[in-house]
Amino acid sequence: MAKNSGRRIFKKEKVAEDWCFQCKDGGELMICDHGGCLKAYHPECVGVEDSVLTSDKPWICGRHACLICKGKSYYQCYCCDRASCWSCIGEIDFVHLKGRNGLCNNCLKLALLVEENRNIDSDGTSEIGKHTSAFSGSITS
Ligand SMILES: [Zn+2]
Ligand SMILES: [Zn+2]
Ligand SMILES: [Zn+2]
Ligand SMILES: [Zn+2]
Repeated sequence: MAKNSGRRIFKKEKVAEDWCFQCKDGGELMICDHGGCLKAYHPECVGVEDSVLTSDKPWICGRHACLICKGKSYYQCYCCDRASCWSCIGEIDFVHLKGRNGLCNNCLKLALLVEENRNIDSDGTSEIGKHTSAFSGSITS
């Protein structure tokens, strides 16, 4: 059973997230200084020095710059800090889902695995691994 009792009630006012956007864990997090972003990250999850936690220097997460050309981002991944501009979207196999949001190729693979696991229990097959899976004979319909 999923435990819902700990779910936070978000007020209208902006509250920074208190789990890491990359690994979904809590701890010592740094908050993105980009207006309205409020994503939090472990320094090690985004490859920056721990000193960023204590410094006053603004820090902006990866969602605001294109992964490829470092220009202004337009599309942002739902599940990680990857983002892309208009012109680089083809370069990172970004799947566009809704508005400016979608899933990068990494997160899409993970999402598919989770979906498959939900549907077929612990069978071990997935959309991606279907052809090579050792378990492929065990589903009967
Ligand atoms: Zn993390
Ligand atoms: Zn941000
Ligand atoms: Zn770009
Ligand atoms: Zn992603």
